Amino acid sequence: MECNEKRGIATRIIHHQGCSCGNTGAVCPPIYPASTYKQAGPGESSGFDYSRSGNPTRKALEDYIAELERAHSGYAFSSGMAAISAALMIFQAGDHIVATEDLYGGSYRLLTSILNRFGIKHTFVDTSDARAVAAALRPETKALYVETPTNPLMKIADLDALGALARKKRIMLIVDNTFMSPLLQNPHVFGADVVVHSATKYLGGHSDLVMGLATARTEKTAKSIKHIQNGVGAVPAPSDCWLLMRGMKTLKARMESQQRAARLIADWLTTRPEVSRVFYPGLSSHPGYNIHNGQASGPGAMISFYARNRAIADAAFKNVRLWTLAASLGAVESLIASPPRMTHATFPKKELQRLGINEKLIRLSVGLEDPHDLIKDLEEAFKAASK
Ligand SMILES: *Cc1c(COP(=O)(O)O)cnc(C)c1O
Repeated sequence: MECNEKRGIATRIIHHQGCSCGNTGAVCPPIYPASTYKQAGPGESSGFDYSRSGNPTRKALEDYIAELERAHSGYAFSSGMAAISAALMIFQAGDHIVATEDLYGGSYRLLTSILNRFGIKHTFVDTSDARAVAAALRPETKALYVETPTNPLMKIADLDALGALARKKRIMLIVDNTFMSPLLQNPHVFGADVVVHSATKYLGGHSDLVMGLATARTEKTAKSIKHIQNGVGAVPAPSDCWLLMRGMKTLKARMESQQRAARLIADWLTTRPEVSRVFYPGLSSHPGYNIHNGQASGPGAMISFYARNRAIADAAFKNVRLWTLAASLGAVESLIASPPRMTHATFPKKELQRLGINEKLIRLSVGLEDPHDLIKDLEEAFKAASK
């Protein structure tokens, strides 16, 4: 893989060599549906011998994400959860993982109801508190598993501090970078060993595919993930790899526009009597504002807020017309969600209450519509509460 370190991200997104076909000059990669590959002699491989183990279209995508994340190598999976599972299958019975407490619901389910059955233990902590993270470490701790910003409370973990802690303790740092995308944040730069993405979200960007990606900082980690990808076999179809690369090419244009709109909407929310608190790392009032600015080049396009009361929140969910009430995020259409009843329904009720993930909390994923229309739509939905 040719890595053009000096080129800007916009150029690297468009001109990655895997995104074209060297043989024909085609400006997008071909889709190779082949499941198997002819060998010149027994065991004489062209580099590809069976498509679960490796496929040229998938390889183009894997090299592409590795370049964008500044990783040693990348691996593609059939969903974000498959990528996260692969990252966590590096560990074995008796190992312990310290993870963010307000984690994506599916990652919570994986740790608490699947990996636990294989003897992989976990402790949840507020990873925006580096001292709490250090205090949760045990002799058998093998990894920190972190989201920043978190889902849905937008808490910020200090990647530099956690990277230093992981190095000092000789444990792995794994970061779910779905909310930021490689455009805004590159956790490997701070020492993260593995970065995972739900490519279903910003990378795909169009709500028309489910996929996951994992990147590794070192060759050793890359080998472990590749072994799991091949051995477990949760690989994506070549046509989906192609579709994802098509989406990724417009990542910068989409994310910058969505982020601009999100800033306007977050500012507007802070002025509203119906809103008691806004969680957005682009607001200087956000407790993680400085840390976030030190490790990411923008606040992204996800916003959470508390409605002042339940009636206002219910009215918003019921009366919005432009915002689609749906799980997922990061795509061209704006979505509104109720985390405790949707994305985080897998958490125990008590834990949701403790974390403050309640019915007054509203999560927004800002899309590509005119932001003024989005604001007007929310304003009208709020008004319905007072009727
Ligand atoms: C959606 C999501 C996932 C899971 O990804 P899938 O593609 O749905 O399997 C993991 N982490 C975060 C932060 C997500 O938003």
